[in-house]
Amino acid sequence: MPLLLPRARASQESVFARMSRLAAQYGAVNLGQGFPADAPPAFLLEAARRAVGTLDQYSPPAGLPTLRDAIGADLGVDGADVIVTCGATEALNVLALSLYGPGDEVLMLEPVFDVYIPQARLAGATPVTVPMTLDETHGWSLDLNALRAAVTPHTRALLLNSPYNPTGTVFSREELNAIVALARQHDLWIISDEVYDELYFGEKPIAVRELAPERTFTVGSAGKRLEATGWRVGWIACPPAGADPYGAGAGVAANVAGVRQQGSFCSPTPLQVAVAAALPVARAEGFYEGLRAEYRARQDLLAGGLSGLGATVFMPQGTYFLTAIYPRWRAEELVERGVAVIPGEAFYSQHPAPEGLLRVAFCKSRDEIGRALERLATTTMVAT
Ligand code: GLN
Repeated sequence: MPLLLPRARASQESVFARMSRLAAQYGAVNLGQGFPADAPPAFLLEAARRAVGTLDQYSPPAGLPTLRDAIGADLGVDGADVIVTCGATEALNVLALSLYGPGDEVLMLEPVFDVYIPQARLAGATPVTVPMTLDETHGWSLDLNALRAAVTPHTRALLLNSPYNPTGTVFSREELNAIVALARQHDLWIISDEVYDELYFGEKPIAVRELAPERTFTVGSAGKRLEATGWRVGWIACPPAGADPYGAGAGVAANVAGVRQQGSFCSPTPLQVAVAAALPVARAEGFYEGLRAEYRARQDLLAGGLSGLGATVFMPQGTYFLTAIYPRWRAEELVERGVAVIPGEAFYSQHPAPEGLLRVAFCKSRDEIGRALERLATTTMVAT
């Protein structure tokens, strides 16, 4: 029998899929994988119902022109520079395949979202992580000096995420300016994963492309924005047309669309139609403001409950996750006791994870959060 290539082992079952599988097996409340309990908004669902049965065939690999324009209008970029993908996961993979390969290093932070490292490896590149620092009083922070020190002559790209999964950090203008200066100094691409761009609780996150349009690829997600994570409609906003590092005359977006075409070819056409219709409605109707207010309330409910049980909670500035330290709760045991969360170690592979770190999602119903807290209280009593 021929053997699988070693790279086929670069990607094991995702921690999110595993915790959801275990949650189902043990009947646990799932505060692990980040998908919302609430239904997507009616204006999205109605648009999809109208499109299914009428627009059911392939669309262009770069995306439906109406959707590219709607995303462009929403982000303030030209729709011609936008490529629609099957979710942010495919967007990130297409960028990995397009931007780096053997001999290249890709800089990212740790704790790290689980697809960044395997995707870099599958592209043949070497992921290099720089640890965020965690202080019990001040929470998470970026170590800019460590980031600068990690750049080598092989570094090809910087992978950022703000609001940041799992820490909930929203990077400040000063931090982003320093990162952009570093990228310019060493001529690096910037991949900015901004799927939680509308999920913030303080200052509005800064879009990195506004600071460095010539080298930034922005990754976004209709699933995260519109509470439909299974729809698989994401996007890449590429550096503006005209930037064509290969001299092929096609521009960056056209080249990236060419790579994308070899994966899923196109995103589901009727769902693209629906997202194109929904993006301007979400803006006009204040959908994101409502989402933020609701999630802030659920975050407070969860954070208050966890603190009351003795956990140290680090409040996020964005995303729908919080991180907490409680060394006596192990995620593997908690799921058997009826609460699924993500173990901190899942976000670390090159540096040690802080002892007792957990990521807990609050995009779940108030009822689910309440039940999870009750079960944790019982577990805590059993443990003492
Ligand atoms: N972004 C989601 C999370 O962090 C999971 C994504 C996935 O499972 N593909 O929970």
